[in-house]
Parts: sequence; structure tokens; C-alpha cells
Amino acid sequence: MPDQPGRIAESIEFWFDRYQRPLPWRLSYDPYLVWVSEVMLQQTRMEVVLRYFSPFVTRFPDVRALAAASEEDVLAAWSGLGYYRRARMLHAGGRDIVERFGGVIPADPLSLQTIAGIGRYTAGAIASIAYRQRAPIVDGNVARVVSRIFAIEAAVGSHKLMAAAWPEAERLVNSCSDPRALNQGLMEIGALVCTPQKPDCDSCPVRVECRAVATGRANALPLPKERRVATRMVVPLYLIDDGRGRFLMRRERGGLMTSMLHLPHGSTALLGGRLLSVVERELIGSFRHTITTRNVEFRLHRADLREIADSGEYEWIDPESLAQLPHPSYVAKAVAIAVRRA
Ligand code: SF4
Repeated sequence: MPDQPGRIAESIEFWFDRYQRPLPWRLSYDPYLVWVSEVMLQQTRMEVVLRYFSPFVTRFPDVRALAAASEEDVLAAWSGLGYYRRARMLHAGGRDIVERFGGVIPADPLSLQTIAGIGRYTAGAIASIAYRQRAPIVDGNVARVVSRIFAIEAAVGSHKLMAAAWPEAERLVNSCSDPRALNQGLMEIGALVCTPQKPDCDSCPVRVECRAVATGRANALPLPKERRVATRMVVPLYLIDDGRGRFLMRRERGGLMTSMLHLPHGSTALLGGRLLSVVERELIGSFRHTITTRNVEFRLHRADLREIADSGEYEWIDPESLAQLPHPSYVAKAVAIAVRRA
């Protein structure tokens, strides 16, 4: 009598042998065809992949043909599939295989992972599906199935889910008779039976073993994506005018926001600060603004300039010119309020 992972693996393999879809790379299980199919299936639906797979492998029938082609030709054959980085990596991987492995795709997952563009998942897929090696695979679909079978309490797409799913997938592949059938079975169950919404547990080969079903949580696992709670902050903004309608702004130097114009605010214009010293006058308004995960309440103060260091960072900008210059949207909102309340 097999142990629990053994029973689950056996049921999946049996189901896959009976119910698998006929797919072109399943005729020969040629490692090159398995590799191309796996790369195409990342981020693309099966129906779309089926339209592009055969023309692509007819044009580039093996690793050597792929490696010998120009990148332009590979991209042209990929055109319509999207995510062109995948085609570039496939091409680079082909050249790598020709150079370092004499054009033969290696069978062991560690060697596979040294090839340009091949990560743990694709290495596991080629090793197990093409070469029947005991290598686990976990992508989003398999993670969902495994999280339900073993009732893993972790959120969709989370590091925690992947970290818990890989060892379970490994236990399954180490307990199975045929890694090719087991891993494809897991993928196929994820695509056809254990779907994100309304899993069809009545048709599932592992229903009896499934802990999510046993605890009535098939629809609840994996847990929904964690929503990051925005951090709330209050930031004073200083509107300092030169008496001719121009406002003092600081031009960012370096970093991601280089050349962007900013209004002096709490941290750059601390009263008595190093570069700029201001005297706060009245509060003229406030507004909320979300910047990545921060929910900021900007409080707008008219202010007078007391002292400014000659750093060359500050400029007087009139509201009309602002529209032609790079600036974050909070600056435009603040200036519009200041102009209305002038
Ligand atoms: S029994 Fe239901 S929840 Fe469990 S693996 Fe099968 S389809 Fe998914």
C-alpha cells in the first residue's frame, strides 16, 4: 500500500494517462519541443500557443536551427505571441546549448539551470517531461493545486506559497512511477479541474486525499492576495512666491526622478534646515495623494524665504512654464490651489 504522497501521485498519473489533451509536443517528447512549448506557455493561453507552436518548430526544427537563426528571424516567428523577451532568451539559450553542450539539451536540472533563460521551473519541466527525471515543477497552476491538496495557508503568488509548494511537489515526484505523467498531470489538473474559481472536485482524481476538500476550503485556498495597507503620512509643502507669481522649486538631481521639479517640503525645507530656511505663514489647503504604498496628506503653507544656500538646486518657476517641465502631479495640484487662492 503506497504512502499518502504515493497514493496521490498514483491517482494523478492514472488520471493523466486517461484524460490528457493531445498536444503536439506530446507525440515525441523531444526535449527541444518540450522546451519551446514551456517557454511559449509562460504568460500565454494554450489556444494561442497551439496556433504558433507548429509554425515555429517547422521554421526552427531543432536547437541548431534555432541557434543559427538571426534574432530578427526568431522574433519574426514569435510575433503575435507577445512578451518578446522570452523569444530572445530562447534564442540565447539555443546558442548556449550549441556552444557548451554540443547542441544536446542536457537532462539534469542543475545543468539545465546554467543555460541562459532557463530557471528552476523550465529546468524541472524539461528534465521530468522530456527525460523522465525526478525533478519537481511549480508554476502558478501547480502551486494552486498543491496548496489545495496539502491545505497550505498562503496567499496566491506569495513567496510563502512557493516556498511551501516546492517541497510538496518534490515529495510527489519522488513518490511517483513516472515523473513525465505526474508533472504533466499536476499541470493538466490545474488547467482543467482545479481551476482558480469553482474547482470541479467531483471530477478530481485526488478528491479523497485532498485536505482542502476535507476541510471545506477548496474555494478558499490559496488565500487571496495580501493587500498592502497604505502608510499614512502628513507632509507640509511650502509655497514661496517671488512677488511676481513664480514659485520656488527644487530640481531633482540623479536617481529615478532626475530633473523633476519639486516644491520645498517637510524634509527638504525644515525650518532652519541646511539648504533652505523658511518662515511658515498661513495654511491654504490640503489634499491627499497616493505614492506607491504611501497615502500622503499634503498640507499647503504659504511661506517666506529666510535663507537659501547657493546650491543651484532651486529655481523660480511660473505656473505656465511648469506645464512644459517635468514634475510629479502633486506639484501641479499644489500650485493650482495656490493660484486659485492668491
Ligand atoms: S479535490 Fe478539488 S480542491 Fe482538491 S485538488 Fe482536486 S479540484 Fe482541487
